[in-house]
Amino acid sequence: MKVLVLNAGSTSVKYNLYEMDTEAVLVRGVIERVGTPAAQHIARTAAGRTESAVSAGTHREAIDHILSSLTVEGGALADRSELRAVGHRVVHGGERLLQPEVITDEVKRVIAECARFAPLHNPANLSGIEAAMQALPDVQHVAVFDTAFHGELPPAAYLYGLPYELYLDKGIRRYGFHGPSHQFMAASAAEFLKTEASELKLITCHLGGGASVAAIDGGRSVDTSMGMTPLQGLVMATRAGDVDPAIATMLMRDGMSADAVEELLNKRSGLLGVSGVSQDFRDVERAAADGNNRARLAIELFVNRVKKYIGAYAAVLGGVDAIVFTGGIGENSARVRREVCSDLLFMGVSLDNERNDSAQPKANGGVIEVSAKKAPTRVLVVATDEERMIAREVVRRIAGPTAARRRVTGGSIPVGVSVRHVHLSRADSDQLFGEGYEHTVKRAVSQPGQYVCRETVDLVGPKGEIQRVAIINPLRKETQVEVARTDAITLGISAPLRESGKLQDTPGITLRGPKGTVSIARGVIMAHRHVHMNPAEAAQFGVTDGAVIRVRVEGDRETTFGDVLVRVRDDFALDMHVDTDEANAAALSNDSVAAFDGIQGS
Ligand code: ADP
Repeated sequence: MKVLVLNAGSTSVKYNLYEMDTEAVLVRGVIERVGTPAAQHIARTAAGRTESAVSAGTHREAIDHILSSLTVEGGALADRSELRAVGHRVVHGGERLLQPEVITDEVKRVIAECARFAPLHNPANLSGIEAAMQALPDVQHVAVFDTAFHGELPPAAYLYGLPYELYLDKGIRRYGFHGPSHQFMAASAAEFLKTEASELKLITCHLGGGASVAAIDGGRSVDTSMGMTPLQGLVMATRAGDVDPAIATMLMRDGMSADAVEELLNKRSGLLGVSGVSQDFRDVERAAADGNNRARLAIELFVNRVKKYIGAYAAVLGGVDAIVFTGGIGENSARVRREVCSDLLFMGVSLDNERNDSAQPKANGGVIEVSAKKAPTRVLVVATDEERMIAREVVRRIAGPTAARRRVTGGSIPVGVSVRHVHLSRADSDQLFGEGYEHTVKRAVSQPGQYVCRETVDLVGPKGEIQRVAIINPLRKETQVEVARTDAITLGISAPLRESGKLQDTPGITLRGPKGTVSIARGVIMAHRHVHMNPAEAAQFGVTDGAVIRVRVEGDRETTFGDVLVRVRDDFALDMHVDTDEANAAALSNDSVAAFDGIQGS
């Protein structure tokens, strides 16, 4: 399966072509100085490196040129149709785009909306997407977001200590960046340590021109140093990282414009600003070695900030199995790793200086251990490969979540675990939240147009209560409460197994909201497990709407689900919905993929 990964910046288009069956890179390349008469195409293949002047006044011209170069006689692709998908790196996906997304008009609209958080990146990313979709109209295009890996940060990590309304009204919160790199480091560390990612507590340090640290618990990012924008956190090449926000307002009162302050913090600070020498770490190191005091200070500041985040994240995680370094500085500067890790013996960190000094991980994906033998906290250097991670995410999106890691035999179906939730009617919402109250979007769910609200309700049954139950909008004609069997037992309600919307003879319940309670006479169900799909997918499986199929889950708790209903509609995305009891019984998560196992009774 061939996948092309594109990263369109304002003046460059980087690309990587992968054979994903083996994860081999067929071509890596870049067109630089797009939009100028001096555009240049640099490409690397197994046969070597080529460099040529090209005409690339626009992203479209650059992408056309890339595609032509891939499909020339003897090129990496026989023709464009050999591409299974194109993955687009997009910097900011906001709160709505947390998974790799097949690009639709709605996805493009949200990317454009998120440009307010990433004005330098998202518009260029979008322009690359438009150009590539025009050039390759018959190929699936998938967006992978830098912010997405941090999409499950807990509120205590993503909220700022600002009025909560700023979060609700303007989306002002921490998003975090460098997602593919942190995710790649976590995956590489897990593989190297021969331990499931779900068992590991990791601190991953991406130290390049931009730099960030993440705390990763069981494979999920639980805190990260960059914020609403990539300006926060570590001291970077030209970015200030954490500063007292009063500095910005003071400079503005002193007469600097908002734009000038932004430019100062983004372009003239960091290693460059402190050292006055260069933004390039190697130059700063050289100047420091020659006795330049400000260069020495810049390095000390850089190291001190990384160390502080490591200490903080060790506390957040409640322990660390491994610290992972990557990025131009993290991979290459033995000095930075040594100074960052010095005096951390109290938390089990001890470097093997010889290994650290000679560590040179193999490009793109290599891992080297630099901690001392028997040191309880391992220290690893990983050569990051964000593009490969993006290609994996593309495969996960188009072929089913874990297909890239664990293949299933037969047609694969991504799994969505449906946690108990409520669909409200307008009248019931009015009673629970106040007349005409508009719920706010927390995140989109897999079926188009549906979303989880930030607001929740409590369920009050004859035997027990369940608090903070999710609401899924849009509002419906009639309120429906979907619970798992364990929930029904907790509540003391005998909920029947039903298809959504079929509420005759179902029991009622009391819902409690911030403005009142509602007792519904009917509407509590356990949702019948089902698979959504569109007509083309149905044709591939050889099923029609209303069919009942078997679905097999492979892995440690192999399970075959029978009695799975097929629901076919033009706008459905392929997804099997099970409730939490069913998911737990078969060790399923939202990353899982199941296998089509035939039509029932046939
Ligand atoms: P970007 O984030 O721009 O992609 P990189 O990850 O390539 O950046 O990192 C660039 C940084 O890495 C530069 O500051 C560069 O000086 C630094 N770097 C590269 N090689 C070395 C080295 N051998 N020693 C120290 N720093 C290095």
